Amino acid sequence: MPEKVIPIRLAAPPARAPAPHYAGGAFADTLGRPLRDLRISVTDRCNFRCVYCMPREVFDENYKFLPQPQLLSFEEIARLARVFVGLGVKKIRLTGGEPLVRRDLERLIGMLAELDVDLTLTTNGSLLAKKAKALKAAGLKRLTVSLDSLDDATFKAMNDADFPVAKVLEGIDAAAAAGLGPVKINMVVKRGVNDTHVLDMARHFRGSGHIVRYIEFMDVGSTNGWRMDDVIPSAEIVRRIHAEFPLLQADPHYPGEVAERWRYADGAGEIGVISSVTQAFCRDCNRLRLSTEGSMYTCLFGQNGHDLRSLLRAGADEDALRDEIVAVWRARGDRYSEIRTAQTALPEAARLRKVEMSYIGG
Ligand code: SF4
Repeated sequence: MPEKVIPIRLAAPPARAPAPHYAGGAFADTLGRPLRDLRISVTDRCNFRCVYCMPREVFDENYKFLPQPQLLSFEEIARLARVFVGLGVKKIRLTGGEPLVRRDLERLIGMLAELDVDLTLTTNGSLLAKKAKALKAAGLKRLTVSLDSLDDATFKAMNDADFPVAKVLEGIDAAAAAGLGPVKINMVVKRGVNDTHVLDMARHFRGSGHIVRYIEFMDVGSTNGWRMDDVIPSAEIVRRIHAEFPLLQADPHYPGEVAERWRYADGAGEIGVISSVTQAFCRDCNRLRLSTEGSMYTCLFGQNGHDLRSLLRAGADEDALRDEIVAVWRARGDRYSEIRTAQTALPEAARLRKVEMSYIGG
């Protein structure tokens, strides 16, 4: 029986001197990257157990999720978001775990919708049919739904919660009807599991306006048993689709856009590929993640967070919060996807222990 892997949580960094005062103006990290995108995890809980994110053998019935008082309240999240937007953040993505399992999420969305920001959310779609209208009414602009296959048996095996495809498709339709479309649909592609379903997804969503993004299976966290052999390179995915539906490469909407865009030559829409493993895009990564407990992670494959919650709850004012955020960003040098090979070449026990994706959002 392999040794049970205990996911890591916030390792509180040692107390440190107040951050140097930030006097305003543009700022960048050590690789010249600006801060533009903020991903906020509103819960570490989820009603799925996707094998590449929250494997059930680790996140089982004994797993201790974060108690409510340790989560940032909506008021704390909104206050931090206001500071981040003041520092140049243009897009906020709400994530989890599964964000829609957090009660009254519409209330938080209403608070964030007051900010001048592109407000979006990533969901597994399980609660979307019921909630789409309210999310839109609260001010959500658009959303992304994770759907790893149209084949029910495969999808249920991957979400490990016996959840049917039909209900997610219903949620996507409800989101479109509520005005949250076009919906982006994320498919994590794993060799020998769902890679033969890549074309089914393309056939199903072509011409619908929705955009399927094919994601290379990643070594997020330290519990999903990642192997390079299980990765289908994006170039292979594009080749497979192009063979049936000719594709033309399209320009990114903005620098640092995660998905590489490919348009159907016949005008039936587009797809995207997210190639963190085979085509690292760290050079213009402008994303910061805020964990459910209020810690900043400067990389999806990060190890330690930078605790903002203690500052907040110790009564820090906006200046102090700004100083802290800018200091953390300015010290950032992450580029994990560029060093992955060196890392994954190490024996498992010697590899970096990375924070779980379900804790900081994708
Ligand atoms: S690996 Fe880290 S630095 Fe690179 S793109 Fe992903 S989040 Fe950004």
